[in-house]
Amino acid sequence: MSIETQPRSVSQTEQYEKCGWRFYLQRVERVTPSPAAWSIHGRAFHSAAEAYEKSDRTMSAEEAVVIFSDEYEAETNKALDEESNTDRWLSAGRYSGGEDIERRYALGQKQTAYYVEWAKEKGPVIWKTPDGVPALELYFMVELGGVQVRGYIDQLVTVKDAVRPRDLKTGSMKSKFQLQTYGIAVRELYGVEVNDADWYLAKDGRLSRPVKLDQVSADELGERYAAMDAGVKAGSFPARPGYDCRFCDVAHACSFFSAKS
Ligand code: SF4
Repeated sequence: MSIETQPRSVSQTEQYEKCGWRFYLQRVERVTPSPAAWSIHGRAFHSAAEAYEKSDRTMSAEEAVVIFSDEYEAETNKALDEESNTDRWLSAGRYSGGEDIERRYALGQKQTAYYVEWAKEKGPVIWKTPDGVPALELYFMVELGGVQVRGYIDQLVTVKDAVRPRDLKTGSMKSKFQLQTYGIAVRELYGVEVNDADWYLAKDGRLSRPVKLDQVSADELGERYAAMDAGVKAGSFPARPGYDCRFCDVAHACSFFSAKS
């Protein structure tokens, strides 16, 4: 499926809005992205949390940590095979690429064990679809602004009589647009009440405050998807060099890269 006609997603749309050129390099030119331990950390944590929830919370913290560690090691080794110079890995703050790999391994293990303890203690109720499937990494596809939008929702939980989308975060970048999209998708697909959404913040081992989802309509959200879709179809990929360049995984192939911002 070509980039013009494929369904859109939250991450594609946000990436396009922040810097169209990054979207172009990554998804049209298919530039090999620089590896980053933060991405591996996030994926391994998600896998461990999902496995734990799918076990109906019978899995021990140790078993969940093994799932995190195995995936982290396997993905890191694969990325090292492709880029063995860890100075070329992306890393944030004062850590070198190599230090960040080490640090996030230990950090992710701790966060995974803590998630298990937290979930056992707080006991959030995972919502089930009408087919009886626990809403974990739940796939959706809906039309917004005339555009097919798809994605996976980390969790849906039941709070009082409503369903609440929950996104698990290991980093600090939070997206209300993502939660708003989930809310509208769940309402539309399942006809259930969705009033708010939240994030589980692995860094702090707690939930964020709930984000109200009644402040944006499906039409308003649809306008963002429609604008992005029209831009991609028109071949318009404006570069927006700025602060985010330092976290950009295709910066090595970008002539607009701004180190100063
Ligand atoms: S380096 Fe900056 S301008 Fe270039 S693609 Fe990345 S975010 Fe965009």
